Amino acid sequence: MIPEINAGEVYRMRRRHPCGGWEWRVYRTGADIGIECLQCGRRVMLERRKFESRMKARVSLADD
Ligand SMILES: [Zn+2]
Repeated sequence: MIPEINAGEVYRMRRRHPCGGWEWRVYRTGADIGIECLQCGRRVMLERRKFESRMKARVSLADD
């Protein structure tokens, strides 16, 4: 599915956040993935498997 998830990457999800946003930035990786909504700034932790099933596509790579 996703070879690697890195902090700073932006992903588009399959379902829209209640605030209207579609895109989330990863701020933490590990067993759980921490993502932040680009529209409202809300932070959510998801198990890696859940994150992979909810996300649709990577929008941008982390800058490094
Ligand atoms: Zn939001």
